[in-house]
Amino acid sequence: MERKLPTRLLLEEKELPRSWYNINAIMKDKHEPMLNPKTLKPCTEEELSEVFCSELVKQELNMTDEYIPIPDEVMDFYKMVRPAPLIRAYCLEKVLGTPAEIYYKFEGNNTSGSHKLNSAIAQAYYAKKQGLTTLTTETGAGQWGTALSMACAYYGMDLTVYMVKCSAEQKPFRRAVMRTYDANVIPSPSTTTEAGRKILAEYPDTVGSLGCAISEAIETAKSKENCKYVLGSVLDYVVLHQSIIGLETKIALEKYGVEPDVLISCVGGGSNFGGFIAPFLKDKINGTKNYKIIGVEPESCPSLTRGRYAYDYGDTGKTTPLMKMYTLGNGFMPVSSHSGGLRYHGLNSALSKLYHDGYFEAVTVKQTEIFDAAVKFAKSEGILPAPESSHSIKVAIDEALKCKQTGEKKKIVFCLTGTGYFDLKAYTAFKDNEMQDYTPTEEDLAKGFATIPDIPQNRK
Ligand SMILES: *Cc1c(COP(=O)(O)O)cnc(C)c1O
Repeated sequence: MERKLPTRLLLEEKELPRSWYNINAIMKDKHEPMLNPKTLKPCTEEELSEVFCSELVKQELNMTDEYIPIPDEVMDFYKMVRPAPLIRAYCLEKVLGTPAEIYYKFEGNNTSGSHKLNSAIAQAYYAKKQGLTTLTTETGAGQWGTALSMACAYYGMDLTVYMVKCSAEQKPFRRAVMRTYDANVIPSPSTTTEAGRKILAEYPDTVGSLGCAISEAIETAKSKENCKYVLGSVLDYVVLHQSIIGLETKIALEKYGVEPDVLISCVGGGSNFGGFIAPFLKDKINGTKNYKIIGVEPESCPSLTRGRYAYDYGDTGKTTPLMKMYTLGNGFMPVSSHSGGLRYHGLNSALSKLYHDGYFEAVTVKQTEIFDAAVKFAKSEGILPAPESSHSIKVAIDEALKCKQTGEKKKIVFCLTGTGYFDLKAYTAFKDNEMQDYTPTEEDLAKGFATIPDIPQNRK
């Protein structure tokens, strides 16, 4: 095969973006605001600042500035791990025998092993600047907890991480990395909080969920001095920080003269997907480009494809503000799967609105299918992908194989969010043919939907 482009579409440090990209500023119809569950009125800046850092609250509520400058101190850290490489998957293309061009943005090139560091470092910076000393958070698969541990260690802050119990058990070494960076890691549900004790009383055998760990982290943040809760996904400000992924991708594609046709990434809380597509959305919204944009979710936790568009709590303990989003219900208990980062009942409000308005499509894939794709990718591209990221690989391969049928030379770009070194138990299960797929029944979903609050806004 003739190679017109280099394998790595490199950027120099001076080409790095200096601002994040705010999709809320360019959306013609804004998403509905977060509501205070007690008053059912939009949350004010003051209310949100009780739980979150003030600067992050400002970013969360910013519906007007398209570009928000990245502080120099954050830029200094970014420069150590960024730009993340954009790689042409020549070898995978060859294995597939497709005329399509496949590109991936690789976000796993740092110790945390995922894109989550992009927001962790920004959040720890703003917290430090505000004079806070301690942060609390939750982690599913462990990538967010690891990223925040690194960020807190860098800025000299204390951190308590509530780690979803099944992940803590599946991935003891994740916990070891977090502890290396001095984080206090507690498997959730735990007996250290009211929320945890309540869930344990109701479901003694639960393997935990992100929603439940969030409740515990918020409760702890509220009970400590100089302590706030930070979140690794779902909120608009996290999507904002992750726009660094899409901005770099866009700059590199333009530099090398590549016009993308298909953009793909996996959707958990929506942060990498939102950040990845952010700078491409403007043309899509204005109708000047017709990118095919695909969000990929696990069949076992199908918030977009089978969820309801409604106001719901972000956590099982119903402690967060209400967010309008595609949701399976805050009480939906996803089965234990190997893609911990995607086991969340809802997703970001802006993305939910964009999906509702038809700006992108969503597909679900089965766990065994994604590991099949992961192994194919690992063999040809030399990177062991995270199970979450393998959702995107699976769909990118499917799109490339469609091109094989039609002869189209589409340019497919996906986000490879992280590496799978801590997911080897999952790879082992796959290799031993012990991995199972699970599709929630209508009954499972009905149970989750029953936990969506019955408020007037949801009855319209
Ligand atoms: C957390 C995580 C995801 C999903 O989270 P989003 O907020 O939806 O991006 C995807 N991939 C990896 C590797 C992750 O760690």
